Amino acid sequence: MSDRWNNWSGSQQHDLARYESPTDEEQLRGILQTAQKNGQIVRTVGSGHSFVPFWTDDVIVSLDKMKGLIECDEASRRATFWAGTKLHEMGGVLWDHGLSLENMGDIDRQSIAGAISTGTHGTGATLSNIPSQLRALTLMKADGEIVTLSQQSDAELFRAAQVSMGALGIIIKATFELSPAYYLHEKNWSCSVEECERQREALIRDNRHWEFFWDPARDVCAMKTLNITQESSARRINDMQEVGKSYQILPSDREHKFNETEFSVPAEFGWECFMAIRQLMQTKYPEVKWPLEYRTLAADDMLISSASGRDSVTISAHQGTKYPHEAFFLEVENIFRRYQGRPHWGKVHSYKKQDLKKVYPEFERFCQIRDQFDPEGRFLNPFLRGIFCDT
Ligand SMILES: Cc1cc2nc3c(=O)[nH]c(=O)nc-3n(C[C@H](O)[C@H](O)[C@H](O)COP(=O)(O)OP(=O)(O)OC[C@H]3O[C@@H](n4cnc5c(N)ncnc54)[C@H](O)[C@@H]3O)c2cc1C
Repeated sequence: MSDRWNNWSGSQQHDLARYESPTDEEQLRGILQTAQKNGQIVRTVGSGHSFVPFWTDDVIVSLDKMKGLIECDEASRRATFWAGTKLHEMGGVLWDHGLSLENMGDIDRQSIAGAISTGTHGTGATLSNIPSQLRALTLMKADGEIVTLSQQSDAELFRAAQVSMGALGIIIKATFELSPAYYLHEKNWSCSVEECERQREALIRDNRHWEFFWDPARDVCAMKTLNITQESSARRINDMQEVGKSYQILPSDREHKFNETEFSVPAEFGWECFMAIRQLMQTKYPEVKWPLEYRTLAADDMLISSASGRDSVTISAHQGTKYPHEAFFLEVENIFRRYQGRPHWGKVHSYKKQDLKKVYPEFERFCQIRDQFDPEGRFLNPFLRGIFCDT
């Protein structure tokens, strides 16, 4: 067995000897207290599906053994899970209670805590990211103290903790407000970029979910819409259409490994920004065969969520793990900078605190709260110091 741990894409690797999997809160507290005594950094891992250096050779904590449903109240449509639960372990359990997540991203392999901590989102102009579905969070701070935050208990701290990259504490429980269980009808088709531009406003308006992948090799857009249907059984209509339970239709499989960068821009700049990146790829990076993904995301009120205070379009660029991505991603990032881009917290970017303050009105406030929660910086590795601290 390898003595190294690595993230999904293989871009981050660490010492497996320092990998801890507590089974309960007492064990977790013990790990944190030992780390505090030894002056070690502690970073939590969910499913390791982020592409950035979130981790450490000091202590990596996994909550894989703290998972499952804790309680569910069907009347208020609220359910509380242990934070190590994977998204794909929630769907069937919730369905049995007549409930579903309001929206999901492209995959369901992430842990609850990992998905919420980076603001993971799907598509849909009226739908916000996964942490927007939270109503309460329980965290363990670096000294072992447990705090439960909600809109009622302290709205500002809750808005900070919803997207916080593990920088405030280790999330141990999460309470969601859910939708009544629903079936989705998925439609797929291809069209030219010009056709996509002509149709896009109507598609955004008329569908619960719309997105496209632009294929640089063929200069074609692979379009997808999803809408709630009153049908009540899964069926494949043809190669391009199917009906199924929401938690089975929303996520897809991602067989091939890649690295990814993604930014959100104000919705009104989305198309222009996409066209600028398409031009960059056609003129300077014709060898990149991986697609651009274009999605919509409704505004929310979290302090450092990528859609904080603004309806957004998110655009992501990919490159296969066998090929270098650094120069390409940096040039894509420079285009995003022209459009007030905010990085996806789990995907490759080079933003530092001074860049982030320009695009997040409440960034400084988040840094103050982080400082109150973790004054010793127990949860800060060098990457996160660059994000949250003045250099
Ligand atoms: C194939 C693939 C597809 C993806 N699709 C999408 C998509 O459609 N939409 C989208 O928005 N993103 C997408 N992502 C990005 C992904 O959703 C995020 O990077 C997400 O954070 C990964 O969840 P994870 O459980 O793997 O968390 P990790 O990557 O392991 O961790 C992410 C962050 O959460 C923190 N964390 C984890 N557990 C805890 C905890 N218990 N307490 C406090 N902090 C914690 C970590 O310290 C880290 O800062 C995709 C990534 C991949 C590889």
